[in-house]
Amino acid sequence: ARPPVTVIGLGDMGRALAGALLDAGHPTTVWNRTASRADALAARGAAVAATPAEAVAASPLVIVCLLDDGTVRKVLEPAAGALDGRTLVNLTNGTPRQARETAAWAAGQGAQYVDGGIMAVPPMIGRPEALVLYSGSPAAFAAHEATLGALGAARHLGADPGLAALYDVALLSAMYGMFGGFLHAVALTRSEKVPAAEFTPLVVAWLGAMMESLPAMAEAVDSGDHPATGSNLRMQATAYVNLLEAARDQGVGTELMEPMRALLDRAVAAGHGDDGLSSLVDLLRTAPADG
Ligand code: NDP
Repeated sequence: ARPPVTVIGLGDMGRALAGALLDAGHPTTVWNRTASRADALAARGAAVAATPAEAVAASPLVIVCLLDDGTVRKVLEPAAGALDGRTLVNLTNGTPRQARETAAWAAGQGAQYVDGGIMAVPPMIGRPEALVLYSGSPAAFAAHEATLGALGAARHLGADPGLAALYDVALLSAMYGMFGGFLHAVALTRSEKVPAAEFTPLVVAWLGAMMESLPAMAEAVDSGDHPATGSNLRMQATAYVNLLEAARDQGVGTELMEPMRALLDRAVAAGHGDDGLSSLVDLLRTAPADG
């Protein structure tokens, strides 16, 4: 028989997580503030707990997926006494600091703690293309890896509980850079009534081609040697002004694009005009790595 699991939080994501665990044959106990959200899961065999404490007590593995870190604390505080000896896996989106603080809190309750970042949307859960990043107790992760595999591909990043949130926010930041660029691009072409659906295949191909330069940029970031490879920063800072001017001429806001111009100008002023784009990374640091 598969080991029992508890899922606390049945929003869009929590319902998908609980559903995947039921599909994989795990006896699954659920709790949600709005009880009716458990109805469909109950019909599929889930046990519905009356309180978070009852839900925690039902399984050695407790997965929480709530709105945010404050909600996690609010929901779990009254159930703290039940956590002793259990593993808490927190799949709520948060920051590395929040993850480390919740890990310390969980340790104080006698629980093993694993933090997680879900790199997927609810319909992907339970399929191999759903990636879930984990960090925190290596022993607890190893003990529950097979169960967590029911949610999607599971990758443990290290013992520091903050690592999953760090990777998660970094990946989401890269994603929002892409979406922001896309939205601005489409706003530009729409200013001349070019349908977004007509323009978008060009964006997809262009971003695909540009993405191929990322591994080489990563090597430059790691080595601190930033070759311009045919596109020096001084040229890019000059051309970038045209992006902003064109947007203004077309009646398109520049708020998504201005920050990069400021950074390019700062890089040129700091003497990086002959370097490549990767040299901007060092300018983004506002505190020493161990600060
Ligand atoms: P939803 O908004 O659908 O669900 C929010 C959950 O939090 C519900 O269970 C809700 O309970 C509960 N909640 C909110 N406030 C309180 C409170 N004060 N007390 C008790 N419970 C509360 O969000 P999702 O399920 O989509 O997201 C859950 C987490 O997963 C978030 O951290 C999100 O960032 C993360 N995530 C979501 C993804 C997605 O695409 N959906 C993708 C990757 C991560 P109630 O039903 O009673 O309102």
